[in-house]
Amino acid sequence: MSSQGCASYLGRIGGGQMVALDMGGCMHRGIIQHELNHALGFYHEHSRSDRDNYLTIMYQYISPGQANNFNKQNTNNLGLEYDYTSVMHYNSFAFSNTSGQPTIVTIPAPNIPIGQRDGLSVLDVSKINRLYQCNVCAYLLNEKNGSLTSANYPSAYPNNASCVWLIRTPSNQVALNFVAFDVQSSPNCTSDYIRIYDGPTKRDPLLVDRTCGTLLIPPIIASTNQLLVEFSSDSSVTEAGFKASYSSGKVLHTKYFILTWYSL
Ligand SMILES: [Zn+2]
Repeated sequence: MSSQGCASYLGRIGGGQMVALDMGGCMHRGIIQHELNHALGFYHEHSRSDRDNYLTIMYQYISPGQANNFNKQNTNNLGLEYDYTSVMHYNSFAFSNTSGQPTIVTIPAPNIPIGQRDGLSVLDVSKINRLYQCNVCAYLLNEKNGSLTSANYPSAYPNNASCVWLIRTPSNQVALNFVAFDVQSSPNCTSDYIRIYDGPTKRDPLLVDRTCGTLLIPPIIASTNQLLVEFSSDSSVTEAGFKASYSSGKVLHTKYFILTWYSL
């Protein structure tokens, strides 16, 4: 659709439903995720029932006709904390009718960053999974740097695991360094394996194809700020698993190397 701005119905309305995403202004990951999250049933974060503990709405800078965008709703907060970093949060100056005057002031500190549209936050993902009772093994790592491990590490990972870690650093390219690696060996790594993609989905190019055994995977650099790690285990034999750290760095050249190795 065109000329409808970026807009969505709240929740399922039955049958197919429209989400308006103008070519000019809406075609950004965070904005698309924001609108789809409305369709999934989520209000704006600053409309949460408990929002008054976290911010003050400055109605004196909001035109009366637009004040309903700041209505508090009787939301189901799913037992999850208020999230200033939610993709569903307005920014400080949304609908301000007075240049330079904020419409939302965070408390107690007045300058907590709000209104990001980079993409779903960790808590946005948790809320979707909790609302839809998805028992998924999926993690979003969106700090500048951090680490990930297989479940139970350094004890053995479980059988029948199927997990993904999406690393999305705030900027620059993701660098991933394995510091421990012990995944059940099998011919062509058909039993347990790790795979790494150069982007946020399993449709993105592989940086590392099915890998197992005990050889440490060399340092990896993605071409963007997003990288996906996939881990799968079958129904028998488990090992200690893996541990890796990630960071964001400026890198001039992206090195692609597709690896498939395994020790028998
Ligand atoms: Zn919205």
